[in-house]
Amino acid sequence: MVCQASLTVMKMEKKIKKPEKRIQFEICVRCHKQLQIPVDLEIDYRSCYVEGAGQLCYDCYHEIYK
Ligand SMILES: [Zn+2]
Repeated sequence: MVCQASLTVMKMEKKIKKPEKRIQFEICVRCHKQLQIPVDLEIDYRSCYVEGAGQLCYDCYHEIYK
C-alpha cells in the first residue's frame, strides 16, 4: 500500500518538475503574425526569409515578391 502511494507521489513530482518547453517562434516582420519557424532555426532551412529584412510569412513574402 505504501509503495503504491509513494509511486503516485513520484509520478506527480515528475509531472510538476517537467521542464517547460518554450520554443520561441519567429514573427513576420511585416504583419507580425507568429510563424511556425523556431527562432534558432538556421536561415538556410527557412522559407520566406529575406536577408536584411528578416522573416516574413508566406503571404507577405508572396505579396512583396510576386
Ligand atoms: Zn506577414
